[in-house]
Amino acid sequence: MLRTAINKARAADLAIFGGCPAFEEALYVGRPNLGDRRLFLQRVNAALDRRWLTNHGPFAREFEQRIQSRTRVKHAVAVCNATVGLEILARALDLSGEVIVPAFTFIATAHAFRWLGLTPVFCDVDPSTHNIDPLQIESLITPRTSAIVGVHLWGRACDVDALEALARRHAVKLIFDAAHAFGSSYRGRRVGGFGDAEVFSFHATKSINALEGGAVVTNNAALAERLRQMRDFGFAGDHDDVIGAGTNGKLNEISAAMGLTLLDSMDDIIAANRQVYQRYLYGLSGIPGIRPVVYDECEENTFHYVILEVDETRAGLSRDQLMELLRAENVMARRYFHPGCHRAEPYRSDPQYAGVKMPVTDQLAQRVLALPSGGSVGIDKADAICRLIRLAVAESAQVRSLFAAQADLAQYQALFTHSENDPRVTVERTV
Ligand SMILES: *Cc1c(COP(=O)(O)O)cnc(C)c1O
Repeated sequence: MLRTAINKARAADLAIFGGCPAFEEALYVGRPNLGDRRLFLQRVNAALDRRWLTNHGPFAREFEQRIQSRTRVKHAVAVCNATVGLEILARALDLSGEVIVPAFTFIATAHAFRWLGLTPVFCDVDPSTHNIDPLQIESLITPRTSAIVGVHLWGRACDVDALEALARRHAVKLIFDAAHAFGSSYRGRRVGGFGDAEVFSFHATKSINALEGGAVVTNNAALAERLRQMRDFGFAGDHDDVIGAGTNGKLNEISAAMGLTLLDSMDDIIAANRQVYQRYLYGLSGIPGIRPVVYDECEENTFHYVILEVDETRAGLSRDQLMELLRAENVMARRYFHPGCHRAEPYRSDPQYAGVKMPVTDQLAQRVLALPSGGSVGIDKADAICRLIRLAVAESAQVRSLFAAQADLAQYQALFTHSENDPRVTVERTV
């Protein structure tokens, strides 16, 4: 609940400096959407009554069909999560050697390939879109390159045309980690049908969730067939003939039931997300150093991500300070993709990545902050969060000095605690 009685006017009113938190209960980034609980439970009961819990049951098949019709892509292969989906896709496309991936993404994009023994080669992103920068890809292509991987970050589609041209020119595969982009469009066409294949995530924190889940989508029938086999231990058709190596990437029926239930509510979810996103844009406008990610009005998006870039020199406080300050108010803002894939293990310590420089990713990893979004926030709370940010920036000089005073105090306390435990001091005292 928002404590409407509290009106914060000065830096000292902020909860981090001793004020009362603006919200009684924590607001989270990526709090799962539930959809219509009654419908979900009906489906769960139907699955239990059928005793058909996994192995391409009726819900998993229906989920695939609904993904196909929503994205207008011919084949959707439901999988247990997007990470396994990327792995199966890499195998189905016979990828080898190096795979070019953006450095500013969730770690799973890189790990999926590394896990298979492939080498993710990091590419920096475009500061204006946060997506892989097509202009930097060419110089990273080597005879060992087998694929380019785009990530449609925040549901904003990559520069698909440029990536398709590059992939064609160099005869490499093109795939998309579309984990953020179910329900997005690119130049009026729905995300899902670009490149060789795209992979959606339906993890609990995504706009449409299947508890855990994903789908690989493609217009290529032969590829879809391979994906289906590999998802199911290499079985072809009805579980008799094993025609190759495979893994277990199946989507179970309870997950599919959740996915279907969220699809039923998808338009309402998007409408609620959009309203909150627009409220944030309005409430944050004109705050120095606070730049929200803005979605193209001509494209579809689920507006699931409300993302800020905090420019410390202009805002007068750092992203991390703003995050700490909001968290004390029970606004559990999160930094995203910190510190960048290239600075995470195992890449950071792997000599083959020594000297890799990703200046835009480094900067975004220092600046990007995700705010709680969607229906569970609502416009009143979004307004209140905007007011907190506006106050923090307006009073940034005071905020900085209070932070400094806090740090001094902590240092002093550490010293004090230390001397309490220091036997020499204790001896002195007893003497
Ligand atoms: C969530 C996410 C994934 C992983 O999806 P899972 O379904 O959890 O495996 C991959 N890439 C990106 C960009 C993501 O945000």
